[in-house]
Parts: sequence; C-alpha cells; structure tokens
Amino acid sequence: MRETDGRSYSSRPVLTINLSAVIENYKFLAAKVAPAKIGASVKADAYGLGIIQIGKALYGAGCRTFFVAHAGEGKILRGAIGNQPNIYVLSGPTPQDSALFFGSTLKPVINSLTQARDWIKTIDGVKRPPRTALHFDTGLNRLGIPSSEIEIFVKEDGLMDALNVDLVMSHLACSSLQDHPLNKQQLDLFKRTAAQMPMVNLSLANTGGIYLGKPYHFKLVRPGIGLFGGTTTDTPNLEKTRPVIELHAPVLQIKNVNKGETFGYNALYTAASHMKIAIVSAGYADGLPISLSGTDNAVISHARLGKENAPIIGRISMDYTILDITNLKKYVERGEKAVFFGANLDTQAKQAQTINYEILTHLGQRCKRVYIRDGKE
Ligand SMILES: *Cc1c(COP(=O)(O)O)cnc(C)c1O
Repeated sequence: MRETDGRSYSSRPVLTINLSAVIENYKFLAAKVAPAKIGASVKADAYGLGIIQIGKALYGAGCRTFFVAHAGEGKILRGAIGNQPNIYVLSGPTPQDSALFFGSTLKPVINSLTQARDWIKTIDGVKRPPRTALHFDTGLNRLGIPSSEIEIFVKEDGLMDALNVDLVMSHLACSSLQDHPLNKQQLDLFKRTAAQMPMVNLSLANTGGIYLGKPYHFKLVRPGIGLFGGTTTDTPNLEKTRPVIELHAPVLQIKNVNKGETFGYNALYTAASHMKIAIVSAGYADGLPISLSGTDNAVISHARLGKENAPIIGRISMDYTILDITNLKKYVERGEKAVFFGANLDTQAKQAQTINYEILTHLGQRCKRVYIRDGKE
C-alpha cells in the first residue's frame, strides 16, 4: 500500500474557529434587527469557542453588550474587552460573587425578589454600584421574577431606585418553534410587565426570537447560537448565518479488513465484504457524540474527506473514530484531515439526537484551537 509520509502533521485534532464568520454573522443579525442592538450571549466560554477571542472579535465588530451566565465568566470577558461594554450576568448576584461584580463592573440580572433584596444589602455603602437588569419570567419557568412578584417591584418604596435598573428582559421558551402559541403569550405578558416598569431598554429575543419578527426585537436582542453559525428555528433557510467551526481529525492509519471482521469496542459493526478503513484522531473526548457511532443496524453519520463522505462505523471511542473509505474515489493518505461539523453541524446534531448548542459546548479542551481571520490563521 502506498502511504505518503512527506507532509508534516500532528495526531492532535484541530478545532478551527472562523472569527470572520462570527463577525459576518454578527453583522447579518445586527442589520436584521436594526435599530435594535445586539447583546451577544457568550456564556459557557462563548458556547465552547473561547470567550476571549470571540469577545474581542465581537467587540471589534461593534458589539457593546454581552451576556454571560456567571460572574467568573464576566471577569474573564472584562479583561478581554476593556471597561466600556455592558456585561450582564444572567444568573444574578450570589453571596460569594459580590467582589467579582464590583471588581469587574458586572451588571447583575435580578431574577427574584429575594435576589433583589440581597443585592440591595450587598451594595449598601458601595460607591457607584453597577446598574442592574430585571429578568421577568413570562412562561419559561426557569430563572426569572414570577408574575406574582411584579406588584412588589412596582409598589415597594425605594426598591426600584435602589436597584438602578437599566434593562428589563425576559426569555422565550419556544422561539425555535416559530408557530408555537407560547411565543405570542410571552410577548404579550412581557409588554404588559414592561409597561409597569420605568422607561429602560427592553430585551426579549434570543436567536430564534429574532426570526419571530420586529415585535420581538425591542431595544436589544441576545443571540448566541446564531453568532456561532448554528441554526435554531424550524425555518433554517431563513437563517443566513455561516458555519463557524470545523473539527479536523487527521488520519492516523489505513487498513484493509476482511469480510466478517468487526470494528471497534463491542464489535458493533461487521464488514459485509472486504473493506478499507481509516482510523482518524478524534473521539468523544474531543466532542464527537458517541451517538454518531455506526452499527450493523444503522450507519448514522459520516465525516468529510476531501469532497467525499466517509461513513462512521463502529463505536466512536475516546480518542479515535473509524471511517469506511472503501468506496471513496479519493486515495486517502495518512495525515489527511477528516472534517466533522462545519456546514454539517446542524445535521450531525440531529443525527446524534442532540442540538447544535450541546455539540459546540462539548468540543473538547483537548483539540488545538485555531482561530481563522480573513482566511488566515
Ligand atoms: C443562552 C441565552 C440566550 C441566547 O440564546 P440562543 O438561542 O443561543 O440565541 C439569550 N438569552 C438568555 C437568557 C439565554 O440564557
């Protein structure tokens, strides 16, 4: 068998993150919602893509408001993008995190009356504490001020003054399901709630909410997945955002296998005839869902090798994945890159019975991350 060693390659899988695509996606969404502004949701290390690099790229593109889940994430982001932009912390203030809020000027998102009262105690005596956001629960029944507490916020003397609110927000439960009746119900409740609040900026839409149309945009939208190239709605054709990431797994070994032999742990796939396979260097530790494994019952997915698709066969293991290259026209050589996700991200998420969000956030820390800008590393 001819195997070329001439090119230099590493066994380490590479995650490419295209910052130019993130910026294009930002500009596409910004144009779509104008005059509303974008507040980028960059929690969980910017959906696993790197909050520092993503934060800087979005800041450079003009983004001035960011949402993270935890104060610690906010601190890292603050270090990357400087003092000017708003950073809201979605989980709100907690006793251990006060110093982070003050030290990095993070704006807490207040999710309950208790949280509001605790925050007011915390800022007692603090000079120029950060302003806050109020998050009302309009139907998700996750974090957020329940309707039963609205009246207290409206009526209690001094409460709103002490909180110094600059944003009122809520979060949609079903924005991926564009015709779901809950969208309109949440919109109506959000408007009724906001009408009782001081005149501050309003925000309701995540990526899916952007595609529900203008009435959902208010002053600020909070896309995450759309910036990172994932589609989220049941009308993905309308989502003209570009793929951002690819997982590159180098081919480490090529083998010929006889009919009747099996592949990988637990021998889940059997060669029906003579086969040629490539062992590529990425596994579930790198973020490949094990549910993409191909068994005798069903081959679920594939990787791209050049322009062709190579089926994933056998069980995906921690470090390696087996590809069937028997029928490829291309002659596969060691060191070549098998590509996962990319333009296939959303399809592969469905094949794995998960969502693109989970795929992105599971991309392993072990991959070498390569940031691409203007076509260059
Ligand atoms: C994660 C999150 C978003 C972003 O959602 P996408 O669907 O990724 O656009 C917006 N708002 C809140 C409150 C969130 O938790």
